[in-house]
Amino acid sequence: FVRPIEKINAVIELYPKGIAGFRRYLDLLSTEPDIADRPGARPAPRLAGNIRFREVSFSYGSRPVLDRVSFEIGAGETVAIVGPSGAGKTTLCSLLPRFYDVDGGAITVDGIDIRDMTLASLRGQIGIVQQDMFLFGGTIRENIAYGRLGATEPEIIEAARRARLMDLIESLPQGLDTVVGERGVKLSGGQKQRIAIARMFLKDPAILILDEATSALDTETEREIQKALAELSVGRTTLVIAHRLATIRGADRILVVDRGGIAEQGAHDELLGAGGLYRRLHEAQFGS
Ligand code: ATP
Repeated sequence: FVRPIEKINAVIELYPKGIAGFRRYLDLLSTEPDIADRPGARPAPRLAGNIRFREVSFSYGSRPVLDRVSFEIGAGETVAIVGPSGAGKTTLCSLLPRFYDVDGGAITVDGIDIRDMTLASLRGQIGIVQQDMFLFGGTIRENIAYGRLGATEPEIIEAARRARLMDLIESLPQGLDTVVGERGVKLSGGQKQRIAIARMFLKDPAILILDEATSALDTETEREIQKALAELSVGRTTLVIAHRLATIRGADRILVVDRGGIAEQGAHDELLGAGGLYRRLHEAQFGS
C-alpha cells in the first residue's frame, strides 16, 4: 500500500520539473540563432592572442551589463577577472567566443574584429574550461578526443598525462575505454574537470577561458588541477574568472569588474596597496 503512494509522490515531484524542462526545450527551439558569420567573414589565421576590448557595451535585452569597457591583454598573458557577484565577469568572457555580440564598440584579436572572422575559426582557437563540465555518455577516450577529432592514440595519452588523468585511467579495468556518465562510471567534479583539461591540451587553443570552481575540491585534487591548468595556460592568452587566492596572486594582472566597467586593474600587491574595491573584495573573501 505504501509503495504506490511513494510512487505517486515521486511522479508529483517529477512532473513540474519535466514540464519546466520541456518549456526550456521549446524556448530553445524558438530562439533565432542571431550569431552567425557576417557576409565576407574570413577564416582567422593562427592567432597569437592579443585581445582588445574597445568601448564595449552589452545588455541582455533591457538590462545593461557592460558600459564602454576598454582593456587590452597581451598574447600569452594571464589575467584574473574578479569582481562582485553579478558584476559581469562571465558576460565579459562570453563575448570573446561570440556567444553574444557586443551592442557597441568592438573586440579585436590580433587587430582583427572578431565579427570579421568565421565563427568556426574563432571558436576553434578559444578553449573554455568551466566548473560544470559536460561529458558525453561515451568512453574516456572519446571524451578527450573531442578536443581534436582525428587525434592519435599517443596524442590522447599525452593529453591525459598532462591533465593528470593517468592514475585514474590506470585504476580502471577498461582504462581509456571506460564508459562514463549515466550508463558508466560516475566521475567526480575534479575528474571531469581533468578530462576537460585533457581536451584542451589536444585542442591547443591560442586563448583560454577558465571559469574557476567556487565549490571546494579536496586539496590534493585541487593542487593537481592547478598544476595541470598552469601547464595548460603556458604560451596562451588566459582569462580566468578567479575565485582562488593562489590563482589571483599568480596572474600577470588582475581586472576588477564592477558596475558595468573595469573598476581597477593591476598586480595583486599594487591593488592591495591602492586600498580600493580589490582590497575590500580581498578582505571579504580571504580575510585581512
Ligand atoms: P557571478 O560571479 O555571480 O557568476 P558575474 O560577474 O559572472 O557573476 P554575469 O553572470 O556576467 O556576472 O552577470 C551579469 C549580469 O547579467 C547579472 O545581473 C545577471 O543577472 C545578468 N545576466 C547574466 N546572464 C544573463 C542572461 N542570459 N539573460 C539575462 N541576464 C543575464
